[in-house]
Amino acid sequence: MRTYTYGPYGGAYVPEVLHRPLAELTEAFGEALRDPAFLQEFQHILTHYVGRSTPLFHAANLSRKYDCQVYLKREDLAHTGAHKINNTIGQALLAKRMGKKRVIAETGAGQHGVATATAAALLGLECTVFMGSVDARRQEANLFRMRLLGAQIQLVESGSKTLKDATSEAIRNWIATADDTYYIIGSALGPSPYPKIVQTFQSVIGSEIRSQFYQQHLRHPDAVIACVGGGSNAIGTFSGYYEDRDVRLYGVEAGGYGLASGQHAAPISEGNKGILHGFFSYFMCDENGNIRDTHSVSAGLDYPGVGPELAWLADSGRVEYIDATDEQALAACMELARCEGILPALESSHAIAAIPVVAAKHGPGCHIVVTLSGRGDKDMGILQEKLQP
Ligand SMILES: *Cc1c(COP(=O)(O)O)cnc(C)c1O
Repeated sequence: MRTYTYGPYGGAYVPEVLHRPLAELTEAFGEALRDPAFLQEFQHILTHYVGRSTPLFHAANLSRKYDCQVYLKREDLAHTGAHKINNTIGQALLAKRMGKKRVIAETGAGQHGVATATAAALLGLECTVFMGSVDARRQEANLFRMRLLGAQIQLVESGSKTLKDATSEAIRNWIATADDTYYIIGSALGPSPYPKIVQTFQSVIGSEIRSQFYQQHLRHPDAVIACVGGGSNAIGTFSGYYEDRDVRLYGVEAGGYGLASGQHAAPISEGNKGILHGFFSYFMCDENGNIRDTHSVSAGLDYPGVGPELAWLADSGRVEYIDATDEQALAACMELARCEGILPALESSHAIAAIPVVAAKHGPGCHIVVTLSGRGDKDMGILQEKLQP
């Protein structure tokens, strides 16, 4: 069986009972990609249900302000309001193809849970979502949304009762149910082949940007920016430009209260190598691999690690990493709302906050594409608490 690795990162560090389910998944994924009917059905749903392609919008007001040309990839306009739906549709189709009746998922803020419940409803699959009880209390609206969509919610009471623990519980459940159950992982991480699967389904973002930008300008942008949680919107965006060496790629991690405070979610900028949830990568951990608590104002960036491909792209230097603090992200959120009439998700606001930094590096008139991974409606509670407009 093929195990996907990225330099030293990735792999499949899992208990033996998962070797067979992961081997079957690797095989089924490879076959699906060679089957034109599968790819056609995926494309059909992306077009007619998700609403792709999403626009590449020239943000003229922001461009004027920073003396550069800013283009926003509007994943916030995709069905359910973020890029996550691209991946859940792809994996739910894969689950059906494998003859599975039920899908499970982990969720933190609830965005991946909602996207999974949505795909399951569309494709007639049973759905159980694992969610830490602390997160469930913080994200009541998404909890209710998932129930409306027909999903069962399994509250997780172990550990810190947040995303990390929900992920561990989902893996445990999969071990017991893999015969009829497909586990839909929500970011470009987990044991092989998951990082490859998620990157593949999210690469639609990067390939659209590449052709949209080229059609408009007959050239490539100077810089491309995406926020980094587990890394699915970033890897989906960046993979469109791997081979174009003159296009600089910037990943923006969650700086929380600042890297020096230790309270952040920036495992690449300020973490160590380790293993969690079946893969080797950078994590928020000490030298002995013990996972630390994370902090970010945006729940979707709060995972203590990063996908293996982004770790490798950090070591090789192909992707440069910067961070934006809570405060900078909140300010960027309001700035984009005021400047362009677009209220971004707090995750995406981290990428917006990086625009002046990247513009300064590349000089006046440079062309910058930013992936706007989602819309801000879900963050209304926290925005009301933190901002006085
Ligand atoms: C979940 C989420 C993220 C972070 O996840 P990635 O896998 O790093 O993309 C970013 N933006 C939004 C809107 C999200 O919902």
